[in-house]
Amino acid sequence: SLTDRLSNAFKNLRSKGKLTNADIDGTIREIRRALLDADVALEVVRSFTARIRERALGEEVSEALNPAQQVVKIVNDELTEILGAGVDRPLNFAKNPPTVIMLAGLQGAGKTTLAGKLGHWLKEAGHTPMLVAADLQRPNAVTQLQVVGERAGVPVYAPEKGVQSDGGDQVALPGETSGDPVAVARQSIEVARQKLYDTVIIDTAGRLGVDETLMQQARDIRDAVNPQEILFVIDAMIGQDAVRTAQAFDEGVDFTGVVLSKLDGDARGGAALSVASVTGKPIMFSSTGEGLEDFEVFHPDRMASRILDMGDILTLIEQAQKQFDEEQAREAAAKLAEGEFGLDDFLDQLQQVRKLGPMKNLLGMIPGMAQHRKELEMFDEREVDRTEAIIRSMTPAERRNPKIIDGSRRARIAYGSGTTVSAVNALLQRFEQAAKMMKRLSNGSRSMPGMGGFG
Ligand code: GDP
Ligand code: MG
Repeated sequence: SLTDRLSNAFKNLRSKGKLTNADIDGTIREIRRALLDADVALEVVRSFTARIRERALGEEVSEALNPAQQVVKIVNDELTEILGAGVDRPLNFAKNPPTVIMLAGLQGAGKTTLAGKLGHWLKEAGHTPMLVAADLQRPNAVTQLQVVGERAGVPVYAPEKGVQSDGGDQVALPGETSGDPVAVARQSIEVARQKLYDTVIIDTAGRLGVDETLMQQARDIRDAVNPQEILFVIDAMIGQDAVRTAQAFDEGVDFTGVVLSKLDGDARGGAALSVASVTGKPIMFSSTGEGLEDFEVFHPDRMASRILDMGDILTLIEQAQKQFDEEQAREAAAKLAEGEFGLDDFLDQLQQVRKLGPMKNLLGMIPGMAQHRKELEMFDEREVDRTEAIIRSMTPAERRNPKIIDGSRRARIAYGSGTTVSAVNALLQRFEQAAKMMKRLSNGSRSMPGMGGFG
């Protein structure tokens, strides 16, 4: 896999103090092969590796990073750039509602599923979206969208029997029904205007392969409704076909943005790299499952890390290097070893860690933590505030030696910090556990767990 290959490429570098031309050539060769294995298009691989070589041979000899980290950083930077760093643009909304968002892509790409997710997401953001069934190709397409809409609590405009399923609010179809997707799309805009839906999401038909009939229909729908956004939905697992498909839709409907679906599968993201570099269009969202919530704004940096498969470890290294006071860390480690680590040291450490950014982000950068996203979402930053307040309410003697903190001291500290005695108890207990654990760690391995050999 790509990961294995990159790891192999970097393994050779890790043992060396300096990058040589030969090192770089070897690495580049590995990266090229790895990217091709990951189904990145050949022309993309070529320009990508050329840039890596140029940068690696040129300027930057970093004092802060070792050679392996340096190459990782260059690869990561370039990946992020191609994937659209800074693009991160919001959806384009119409000055006069409704905003029209049209979905295009091959059959099975995930358009209908996306319609529900996007509708749900917009609704949560305070919009009043409506879904439109303009896929009249497959017999079950309309019903599928209705089910999706119901689940998302978003009304669906569809030409079935002249009546709409709607997630609560009945949307009547004006005039006679039609099997013509262009007419349905056009009518839906009128309905949205009348019913004050501010966003219209048009689901369209796909084919198993690109064909001109399909493209013409998509173009006709587009020209009938003038969408603010045409989102090209592409299955991340599509492989080498990504380039051809993306180019066909780019030429066919001139889409405004890309949605990468099925990122929950084990595709490494080769398609993302190919599509972004071949079309130059921004990847705006990603889909990561069949559920309504499995949907997020696309993050180029995360995608780059996914391709390198090492979490956002690089960002972590960078931030840590910038902000972490190594001197202080060494002192703390020494104190730990001597069993003198007190709550004031704990407070120092807490503040050092805090400089790195919100805890949530920090934890999210550690490889393997992505699976615990739900827990991370629940992480309460205020908990850190409370901890800080409690320690600040202690006297220096108490901080140095928490063992002296008896019942009346606990009550005083709780009062002073605006918390409760049980909060103080909990903190002291946690501190004791943490101190024990840290002591164990300092006696054992020196490398941090999960640092993937770069720590
Ligand atoms: P359409 O033909 O483009 O409308 O594609 P659908 O929305 O009908 O999706 C095709 C299949 O892929 C369905 O079984 C979906 O449940 C599934 N699907 C869509 N998006 C995702 C995703 O992000 N992850 C996974 N695992 N399945 C998805
Ligand atoms: Mg569909």
